Amino acid sequence: MTVITLVQGDITRQHADAIVNAANSSLLGGGGVDGAIHRRGGPAILEECRALRASRYGKGLPTGRAVATTAGELDARWVIHTVGPVWSATEDRSDLLASCYRESLRVADELGARTVAFPAVSTGVYRWPMRDAARIAVETVRNTPTAVEEARFVLFDEQAYAAFARQAD
Ligand code: ADP
Repeated sequence: MTVITLVQGDITRQHADAIVNAANSSLLGGGGVDGAIHRRGGPAILEECRALRASRYGKGLPTGRAVATTAGELDARWVIHTVGPVWSATEDRSDLLASCYRESLRVADELGARTVAFPAVSTGVYRWPMRDAARIAVETVRNTPTAVEEARFVLFDEQAYAAFARQAD
C-alpha cells in the first residue's frame, strides 16, 4: 500500500529514493523546481539530461511522460523528470497532468524506488489552479497500482500545503 504524506518545504532538501522534477520538455533546465534541482544537484543531472536529448528524446520529453537521471548531489538516488501540461481554460488537459504522476510512479517502480517526493506539477509557471492540481495529484497517486511505499508531496507554501491537505483527508 502506498502511504501519501505531505510536507511543506523545499523539495531539494528532501531525503527520498527519488525526487520528481517539474521539468520542461527541453530537459535542459528552467525556473521553479527545475532550477532549484539543477542548482542544488549539480552538473551531473544536466549532463544526463543532455545525453537523453541526444539519444531517446531528440525532440524533447513529451508532456505527461517521465524519465529518470542521477540525482547528483541531492539526498536521493534518482531524479524523475516529468513534463506537466500548461494550464488551459479552454481545453481539458487533466489527463496529461494525471499522466505525469502515473508515469513517474511507473519509472519509480522500474528503478525500485520506494520513497518518492513530488512537487505540485504544473502549478507554477504552468499556472494550473492549485486546488484542481491537488485533486488530480492525490486521486491519481491513490488510484495507481505501484510498489512505491511513500508518495510524499512537497509543497512550497502554505496555500499549496492546505490545498493538498484538503484532498488527502
Ligand atoms: P511548472 O512549470 O510545472 O508549473 P514550477 O517549478 O514553476 O513548475 O512550479 C511547480 C510548483 O512547485 C509551484 O507550486 C511552485 O511554487 C513549487 N516550487 C517551486 N520551487 C520549489 C521547491 N524548491 N520545492 C518545492 N516546490 C517548489
